[in-house]
Amino acid sequence: MKTAEIKRRYLAHFEANGHTVVPSAPLPAISDPNLLFINAGMVQFVPYFLGQQKPPHARAVSVQKCLRTPDIDEVGKTSRHGTFFQMNGNFSFGDYFKEGAIPLAWDLVTRSVEAGGFGLDPERVWPTVYLDDDEAYEIWRSVGVPAERIVRRGKQDNFWSMGIPGPAGPCSELFYDRGPEYGREGGPEVDEDRYMEFWNLVFMQYDIADVRSKDEFRIVGELPAKNIDTGMGLERMASILQGVDNLYEIDEVRPILDRASELTGKRYGANPSHVASESHPDDVRLRVIADHVRTALMLIGDGVTPANEGRGYVLRRIMRRAIRAVRLLGYQDRALPELLPVARDCMAPSYPELATDFERISRYAYAEEDAFLATLRAGTTILDTAIAETKSTGGSRLSGDKAFQLHDTYGFPIDLTLEIAAEQGLAVDDEGFRRLMADQRSRAKADAKARKTGHVDLSAYRTVLDTGGPVEFTGYTETRRESR
Ligand code: ATP
Ligand code: MG
Ligand code: MG
Ligand code: MG
Repeated sequence: MKTAEIKRRYLAHFEANGHTVVPSAPLPAISDPNLLFINAGMVQFVPYFLGQQKPPHARAVSVQKCLRTPDIDEVGKTSRHGTFFQMNGNFSFGDYFKEGAIPLAWDLVTRSVEAGGFGLDPERVWPTVYLDDDEAYEIWRSVGVPAERIVRRGKQDNFWSMGIPGPAGPCSELFYDRGPEYGREGGPEVDEDRYMEFWNLVFMQYDIADVRSKDEFRIVGELPAKNIDTGMGLERMASILQGVDNLYEIDEVRPILDRASELTGKRYGANPSHVASESHPDDVRLRVIADHVRTALMLIGDGVTPANEGRGYVLRRIMRRAIRAVRLLGYQDRALPELLPVARDCMAPSYPELATDFERISRYAYAEEDAFLATLRAGTTILDTAIAETKSTGGSRLSGDKAFQLHDTYGFPIDLTLEIAAEQGLAVDDEGFRRLMADQRSRAKADAKARKTGHVDLSAYRTVLDTGGPVEFTGYTETRRESR
């Protein structure tokens, strides 16, 4: 079943059950200063849950574009984490609670494909409930799930929050058993790759604060009403229904991976394994490229542009990881002009604005790639030399000085220095690097203060202006012609 069809069936099922279809909010989370990007379907509904705004409808359904930067290191190494993904969700604002949410989900998941459902074998579906949530447990029993397939789990897994203060609650998740070729038997507690989580039903009833981690927070009080917030990973359901090993192989992502494979000449799946964590590094890189190129497309599509801080830096980092993965696969030229149009063709059927806006999107993307390739050429040479020197003197750690110089003079990102050094078996003097960064920051602050009071010597700039005339910045339309 195509991803678009899964989306359609989800919306149809909940619309038939009295839910209003609400469009996705854009990826940048503008409503919440604590959040850079929307990371779940419920984010746009937070004011309804907190009782700050009256919802226009008691039931809603959406397919929300999400971004989870904390998952970036999992991409390609697990079967189920993307940076960008789509979360199908149904919501009740003080309307139905557990007794409504569980049967609605169970019906869609187990109803036959012919009858409009997803047709999963009920015997392969394992629900979890929060430790003492007997209510949810009994409802799962009543829809027909045997006791041995209902797992009780603690806060870490079964108490959901956005990771920041706000609405939260105990949850109940659905896992799908992909079979023995994917790992060990025994349920989600034993193997979360074989038993893949695909849907989370959150029983939103608390307001929390002081969030330190998944299981360290303070419950401030009860929300004005008991609500439902669910999130079904669209790509995860697609990977189940399309019978593929992971979400980089579904219809909306695989063509990008295939193009990257063609371009680099690396055959995907040369050492096939159903278990993602046993994949060949080249396969992981191809998945990273496919994921990150799609994410870049979606981010720029939603108005984010590469920058050195905030949302723009997240985009920059994701793009740079993709570009570097391409180079590690042996391809040295510009790759985005080959990959981005493929991503567009995958996603435009669901998001037509990506096609109409592609001229703008691609302009930003290609300029960023060109700038980064130039940085890489300059920085890599210097880093390689430094690594060789460190090794030849028997050192195991690259100096903080070097890392700082690369960052400061060449714009070579520290995460890349760490990654390349690690590949060569070297650590980096992180502390030294951070100290130099802090020094630089306080110097910059002092400068800014001096500028405010006028006590700074600008005469050096005068000479440049007098001899060379004004300089026009052309970086957005032209790229550096470099011979290095
Ligand atoms: P996991 O434990 O697998 O990391 P999660 O518990 O962090 O997932 P939730 O916060 O419960 O995920 O989000 C709801 C649903 O969204 C998940 O059940 C899953 O289907 C989907 N999902 C979460 N993170 C990702 C991701 N990085 N890529 C794709 N789908 C995701
Ligand atoms: Mg997660
Ligand atoms: Mg989970
Ligand atoms: Mg979850």
